[in-house]
Amino acid sequence: MMLAQLPRLYLSSFAKPSFYLTSSHFNLINPKPPVTIARTIISFASKSNLATVEPIPLPVSDSTDLDDAPVEISLDKLFIPPETDISGEDPASLTTRILKGSNIVLSKYARDAQVVQADYVKSSVRTEDCPADGLPEFALVGRSNVGKSSLLNSLVRRKRLALTSKKPGKTQCINHFRINDKWYLVDLPGYGYASAPHELKQDWNKFTKDYFLNRSTLVSVFLLVDASIPVKQIDLEYASWLGQNQVPMTMIFTKCDKRKKKKNGGKKPEENIKEFQDLIQGFFETTPPWIMTSSVTNQGRDEILLHMAQLRNYWLKH
Ligand code: GDP
Repeated sequence: MMLAQLPRLYLSSFAKPSFYLTSSHFNLINPKPPVTIARTIISFASKSNLATVEPIPLPVSDSTDLDDAPVEISLDKLFIPPETDISGEDPASLTTRILKGSNIVLSKYARDAQVVQADYVKSSVRTEDCPADGLPEFALVGRSNVGKSSLLNSLVRRKRLALTSKKPGKTQCINHFRINDKWYLVDLPGYGYASAPHELKQDWNKFTKDYFLNRSTLVSVFLLVDASIPVKQIDLEYASWLGQNQVPMTMIFTKCDKRKKKKNGGKKPEENIKEFQDLIQGFFETTPPWIMTSSVTNQGRDEILLHMAQLRNYWLKH
């Protein structure tokens, strides 16, 4: 089926953007004045030599501490959705089109993002047993304790529903939740649970990987990474596997409200996020989309839903 191949096609069609730049990763110093942004965009529009392009300040969520500088990002680290042209864009309006606390530019497909209905559908142990109605879906995956249930709860705003996949027997399943009768949120087993026997862990990997590779309606994996702690090897391995297998991926950085330096190994969420991105950039041809979130403050909730909406609407149209 043609639709089935689209997520991967869509990824590869953006593998080599025409404006590929060579500048630093997003940095965390004070934002440059607006003129800097203007210079950046003009350079981009004219396709001149962009090797020294300045970073663009990103809007950050209202919930971040006031004493923290806004995150900056360079143009080549933005995620530009398909069929989105920013070349003629006014710098100020481009900044407003970047989702807060993320590297994601909004496209014309960002609509119908609200969750008005959410229903638990089923728990499957094999990809073949998953719902067969062809609706697009997004899979949430991450290390145990990363905050996956809390995020799911925040997205659907129904605590009990989100707890469904924590019930005995379901933690190792592919759990489908139908949203607005139009698309699915899929809760996958957490990985890296310290006390799980080695062989069981292997099994989880096997069936989760099978799901990633063979689930034709999977629009994007949402890989959750705890931004309040230093980078973990197992998360890097997961991200690298997804990148190398060209599985479309969005990184969701969780617990971004935890900003007490000492408790978090001396680093702020932004620093852990930057380190993570630096370590995985070799696995991807272009920077994957990422969003900073907190289930405590609801930071990133609307941004995740808008990003899902634009990916989903594009997927449905093609
Ligand atoms: P799961 O195992 O990935 O489903 O993780 P949970 O959602 O059960 O969360 C694990 C722990 O992290 C719980 O104690 C949560 O209260 C806490 N937690 C989850 N999300 C956040 C967050 O955004 N901020 C903070 N500060 N704690 C969180």
